[in-house]
Amino acid sequence: MTWDEASVAERAAAFLAAHDPVAMDRLEFLRARFDAGLAWVHFPEGLGGLGAPRELQAVADRELRGTPDNQPGRIGIGLGMAAPTILAFGTDEQKRRFLRPLWTGEEVWCQLFSEPGAGSDLATLATRAVREGDEWVLDGQKVWTSSAHTARWGLLLARTDPGVPKHRGLTYFVCDMRAPGVEVRPLRQITGEAEFNEVFLTGVRLPGALRLGETGDGWRVAQATLMNERVAIGGMPVRRTMMEVVADTWRSRPELRTHDLHQRLLRLWVESEVMRLTAARLREQLAAGHPGPEGSGMKLAFARLHQELSGLEVELLREDGLGYDDWTFRRPETVDFLGREAGYRYLRAKGNSIEGGTSEILRNIIAERVLGLPAEPRADKDVAWKDLPR
Ligand SMILES: Cc1cc2nc3c(=O)[nH]c(=O)nc-3n(C[C@H](O)[C@H](O)[C@H](O)COP(=O)(O)OP(=O)(O)OC[C@H]3O[C@@H](n4cnc5c(N)ncnc54)[C@H](O)[C@@H]3O)c2cc1C
Repeated sequence: MTWDEASVAERAAAFLAAHDPVAMDRLEFLRARFDAGLAWVHFPEGLGGLGAPRELQAVADRELRGTPDNQPGRIGIGLGMAAPTILAFGTDEQKRRFLRPLWTGEEVWCQLFSEPGAGSDLATLATRAVREGDEWVLDGQKVWTSSAHTARWGLLLARTDPGVPKHRGLTYFVCDMRAPGVEVRPLRQITGEAEFNEVFLTGVRLPGALRLGETGDGWRVAQATLMNERVAIGGMPVRRTMMEVVADTWRSRPELRTHDLHQRLLRLWVESEVMRLTAARLREQLAAGHPGPEGSGMKLAFARLHQELSGLEVELLREDGLGYDDWTFRRPETVDFLGREAGYRYLRAKGNSIEGGTSEILRNIIAERVLGLPAEPRADKDVAWKDLPR
């Protein structure tokens, strides 16, 4: 069937007529919405979608506005990164097992990529996965793992062949966060809270059915995750709202207004609008399903804008903006960026230029893949990982 705006709206209306969100249990409602293909309309039928163009998601969301949602802030890694990776590389069985509880929020996902010795140069990672019969045995350490403390599953990249160059000996797994040998410890951030963790893996046994993609093809699978991560972070429709927060602060403090601050505010307003429109265009381009390097540009611009706006907000608030003194140790389930105070926003925004790839690395990607500039020298490209200096 070919879907258009009218038919998706009709489908949503029929669904609502048959499922009263007030009378139904919240989770049952979400499961039924998934089964009706109204979770992510561009996914295939039977997997939460209708096989419709991606831009028609807005129609489904509009028709179902006000009904229980899946708390996207709590399951951002699942929605933005795990789902597209599983869809592109998972077996039919994996898609059926994972996508529904992922979308309904019953199962939280985390991303076990970074390690103490491998961040920007992720391909140097050292966590080992060794095959033993039908199982894989994992040993190593991951770090900066957001949501590991709430996650049921983790997207994990491990080294399965140390004898080949670093990008080639990697395999991608779904890590069972409840498996014996998985230990999650909180890491405290500049805000005083611990959104992320270090994760120790000691003799963790994963069944072969939890391998995602082919053995040795982990780098390609990870690229899909990373590209989607940048789009998820950079393409979120939040900049305008952050701009509105700062504009409200400006309006509420007429005594602080100066020509210079006004100029800065207006410049950031223009940039926010450019970002908002570019993000909307990027989301439409994603209809094809495969984000390219454009996501890196969005994420780069998002980090800079968020940091500038949160800095301006603190300046506008003067001493009130510096009043952040909430050092309660929390392990939040979600980042409530706009719901918190200016001081929190200022501190939390610092991480925006690190998480999901640092701004320096994103500039390298744009230079090479968008502008066609010469690549950085890569002396270790043809050296077996085990022979690299570490
Ligand atoms: C809030 C937050 C949440 C995170 N959540 C997760 C998560 O859930 N899962 C996960 O796996 N990781 C997560 N990370 C980790 C993040 O992906 C890494 O911190 C990031 O990739 C950088 O790696 P690194 O910290 O090892 O820094 P390094 O790679 O050691 O970089 C240090 C500095 O050197 C610069 N640099 C490095 N190489 C180059 C180069 N070739 N050219 C120019 N400059 C260079 C970097 O830009 C940076 O400024 C999170 C980080 C933050 C801040």
